[in-house]
Amino acid sequence: MQYQVSQIVANYARSLGLCDEDTTAVALRISQMVRESAHITHPVGNRRYEEWLFKVEDNEVLRVHLITCPVCEDRKRITVSDICEKCDGAGCPACRNRGDHEKMIPCPHCTGNQHLTN
Ligand SMILES: [Zn+2]
Ligand SMILES: [Zn+2]
Repeated sequence: MQYQVSQIVANYARSLGLCDEDTTAVALRISQMVRESAHITHPVGNRRYEEWLFKVEDNEVLRVHLITCPVCEDRKRITVSDICEKCDGAGCPACRNRGDHEKMIPCPHCTGNQHLTN
């Protein structure tokens, strides 16, 4: 299957560092990467190939994204676990005997980067 890659998407991928001879070559390379990509669930895309995310609908690549944060992989949030206060980690009905509760927090790595650049 050949995926459609617009000039805009190909140029953008080039600006992110996906270098090849020209935009057409980049578009072909994106198409190939998407063919070999894994299906994923992510806020910015539904396919992943190495550090590249692609938003693919039907057979068109609508968006490319290069992951910059190794901690949250650009999800901007990470899952952390807190010791259950009710049982102090021993396990109880409130924590379904896990001893902790999972929650999502803003990615400290991304937040740290923002802090440095602001
Ligand atoms: Zn508990
Ligand atoms: Zn992050």
